[in-house]
Amino acid sequence: MDLKTDPKLEDFRADVRAFFENEFPKDILAKTAKGASLTTEEVRKSEAALGSKGWLAAGWPAEHGGPGWSLEEQYVFDEELERAGVPTVTPMGVVYVGPIIYTFGTDEQKQRWLPGIREGREGWAQGYSEPEAGSDLASLQFSAVKEGDEYVLNGTKIWTSAAQHADWIFCLARTDSSGKKQEGISFIIAEMDRPGITVAPIITIDGKHALNQVHFDNVRVPADYLIGEEGKGWTYSQYLLGHERTSYARIGGKRKQLAHIRKIASSVPDGGNHRLIDDPAFARKLAEADLAVDGLEMTVLRVLSAVKDGGAPGKEASIVKILATETAQQITTLYLDTAGFNAQRGFADSVSPDWLEGGMATSHAAPGVSTYFGTRAQSIYGGTNEIQHNIIAKRVLGL
Ligand SMILES: Cc1cc2nc3c(=O)[nH]c(=O)nc-3n(C[C@H](O)[C@H](O)[C@H](O)COP(=O)(O)OP(=O)(O)OC[C@H]3O[C@@H](n4cnc5c(N)ncnc54)[C@H](O)[C@@H]3O)c2cc1C
Repeated sequence: MDLKTDPKLEDFRADVRAFFENEFPKDILAKTAKGASLTTEEVRKSEAALGSKGWLAAGWPAEHGGPGWSLEEQYVFDEELERAGVPTVTPMGVVYVGPIIYTFGTDEQKQRWLPGIREGREGWAQGYSEPEAGSDLASLQFSAVKEGDEYVLNGTKIWTSAAQHADWIFCLARTDSSGKKQEGISFIIAEMDRPGITVAPIITIDGKHALNQVHFDNVRVPADYLIGEEGKGWTYSQYLLGHERTSYARIGGKRKQLAHIRKIASSVPDGGNHRLIDDPAFARKLAEADLAVDGLEMTVLRVLSAVKDGGAPGKEASIVKILATETAQQITTLYLDTAGFNAQRGFADSVSPDWLEGGMATSHAAPGVSTYFGTRAQSIYGGTNEIQHNIIAKRVLGL
């Protein structure tokens, strides 16, 4: 995959950039630039702006209403989206469940769910993890019992990202406990406002409300909310994780962060008399982070190049997940270097909306520290990095 030599790709890039500069809602860009969290309405507005252009489901083939872009075009699009500072697209709909529905769902299910996902009208949450089932996900106990033409759902999902914004949740549920634990799991969808569902917020160390615990108490859903075959949910979930793990690369966003850090480090801090960028130890760390992003980019392009016919990335996606996490943590640690003593003070003020508009040298600390804490969680979500090492050892290297 060569992104640098094709003039058609440069025309494509110019079109995408013009859209973000001229047509994307400016109030959303301004709020995101200040490091502030978006409300549910703002998330919808942001995603609907992409959806109305037909660009939200960027990775979908044309037959399912996507733009049908090549991998190169998708890659350029992601770069431009991050460069413009567009809020990260909530992946649960377009990246995770959409491809499962169009690959394994019935025609009726595709008609019911795909338009709302690709147009950004409906939000989704991913109900996999449970209080006693994370890395060992196949031991999950959340149950779905068939009664007539309904399933009755009971149990608790935890660490459910964006559940407070979601209209729908897709769950892994146990429909059979008799055989191998992977074989009794099914993939079932529910509306978030069904009677019996309650959402409890979890506030994380970065001061944000992104996570939730979702309780299901005798929640009834139609039997045709089951995707594919009963007992095959594990297979579908593994297919989905390849998409999820490569989606963590976010090269454009990382380059933007590095440019921001370089800008901060190039200014003279309040009360100081030298620039951090002139410190050889810091300059070395910055150069190492630049190289890490280049390495990550090459790796993700190699993994994506191996994807055939609109399929999902293979087990090599685990390599991207580890590298993307380590690089994100390497970069956000540089924010702490630049923040100095302001980091502690800044964390207390981390909701300050004016971090970019104030003097760079002091006001960058708050979101920098929040981002630092936020990226620690990346080693955990999408399957912990230790588990990814196990997958690489067994399934990629065959050890
Ligand atoms: C920010 C964030 C967002 C999330 N969003 C979602 C979401 O939207 N939906 C969802 O379903 N889940 C979500 N999760 C949950 C996430 O997928 C789980 O936290 C993760 O799979 C780990 O499970 P656990 O927390 O139960 O940890 P555990 O599985 O209990 O692991 C604890 C520690 O033991 C290590 N460990 C466990 N087993 C092994 C092993 N076999 N070999 C080596 N080391 C091992 C782990 O690496 C980890 O360090 C999210 C988590 C976070 C932090």
